[in-house]
Amino acid sequence: MIDPWRAEQEWLRCAFHAHTTNSDGELTPRALVKHYERAGYDVLAVTDHWFRSDPPSTERLLVVPSAELNCVLPGDRDGHVLAFGIDDALASLEGERLDLADTGAWITDNGGVAYLAHPYWTGVTPGSLELPDTVSGIEVYNASCELEIGRGVSTVHWDELLEAGHRCFALATDDSHHPGFDSDLAWTWVRAERTIEGVLEALQTGCFYGSTGPRITSVAAGVGSVVVECDPCRSVTVMFGVSSGAAVHAGRLGYRHGGEILETTPDGSITAARLDLPRTTPYARVQVTDERGGRAWTNPVGP
Ligand SMILES: [Zn+2]
Ligand SMILES: [Zn+2]
Repeated sequence: MIDPWRAEQEWLRCAFHAHTTNSDGELTPRALVKHYERAGYDVLAVTDHWFRSDPPSTERLLVVPSAELNCVLPGDRDGHVLAFGIDDALASLEGERLDLADTGAWITDNGGVAYLAHPYWTGVTPGSLELPDTVSGIEVYNASCELEIGRGVSTVHWDELLEAGHRCFALATDDSHHPGFDSDLAWTWVRAERTIEGVLEALQTGCFYGSTGPRITSVAAGVGSVVVECDPCRSVTVMFGVSSGAAVHAGRLGYRHGGEILETTPDGSITAARLDLPRTTPYARVQVTDERGGRAWTNPVGP
């Protein structure tokens, strides 16, 4: 993966999952562009069900033409797959019942990048899910799935894929259908050139992190530890395999497990922490949580 904190391009705030009147969303594609532009976003992928929406970009907001497809997941579950930057109008795929690997292959063959949407919501069990090479990752957080049925967080699916050795990146998204009510709740910070090609490349290389609030300003992983700098947070955690990780927590009862707090605000929120890493580990990913419960998730980091 490419380390976004060492990249040189600008940080782009991206909405990677939203619907319009081209499927089951409330706003027209142009109105959705305006909505996310006003909310301060840099990039919008319009992901209508089985429809490639491609409203024009504006001076401030770059639109990545995209769609959301269905696939068959293990256990005969109905999976949803985000197809970012596809150049085909989908007619050649209509009516097919493909598995995740073949859906991902169709997307990459048509110039796109594939991500599995909201795995927890689909009901696929973490142990049965595999990530084919044609799919770059999953949504670790989907705000609508969380709002509607409390199944928006897919960290268990993600950790199982990482523990099994899959290269898997993870997005945070709105999946907005009713902008204003279910939008601007989760987003992805991408470090890339402000072009469609630049954003697609970052999605393929993992040069981003997802958030529902806090920013992570620096992650420096070395042999034996990782140092994280972030907006004021109540906890900083690193996960690195079955039953293992390290964490520090702010507050009167602050708990430390394999790490130390390096910097706090006057009221005790953590702004920098060092966490222990084992010398060899299949992966390590960092998660921070702020005082209001907002979270941010890095892709796997490496020394
Ligand atoms: Zn979906
Ligand atoms: Zn959706």
